[in-house]
Amino acid sequence: MNTNLLYVVDDKGAIQYVQIAKDLWEKMEPLVKPLLSAKDASELKQQERPLADFKTLMEYWDFSYPYTPNVECPCCQAKTDDWRNDPKERFLLTNATLGGLLVFHCKTCGTTIRHKYFKDHVCYEHTTPKKR
Ligand SMILES: [Zn+2]
Repeated sequence: MNTNLLYVVDDKGAIQYVQIAKDLWEKMEPLVKPLLSAKDASELKQQERPLADFKTLMEYWDFSYPYTPNVECPCCQAKTDDWRNDPKERFLLTNATLGGLLVFHCKTCGTTIRHKYFKDHVCYEHTTPKKR
């Protein structure tokens, strides 16, 4: 019997989880880490609070130019013409302030993208997570 792996089944006998011996896991973890974080990223969902703050920002929008909803990731080149209606939901709005700051999370590569709105121009910044 292989004691490194233990299958956890549901009441119909279908495998739901696999338990891995700690010694084995320690060897496996660095190998499967990219998969684990990719899964986490795909499960990220747009949160309501920044969306509500975004709506407030739109209501009080008094900059000298219209708001443009396109977002582009300078790191992985993912882009959308309108993050609000992107079927692939490439970008999540993680923060919005009345002062004119929007923060997006790129689901493809994890880059944080900041759109800073000033009276007559927009400033784009980004921070890409360090590769391990
Ligand atoms: Zn990206």
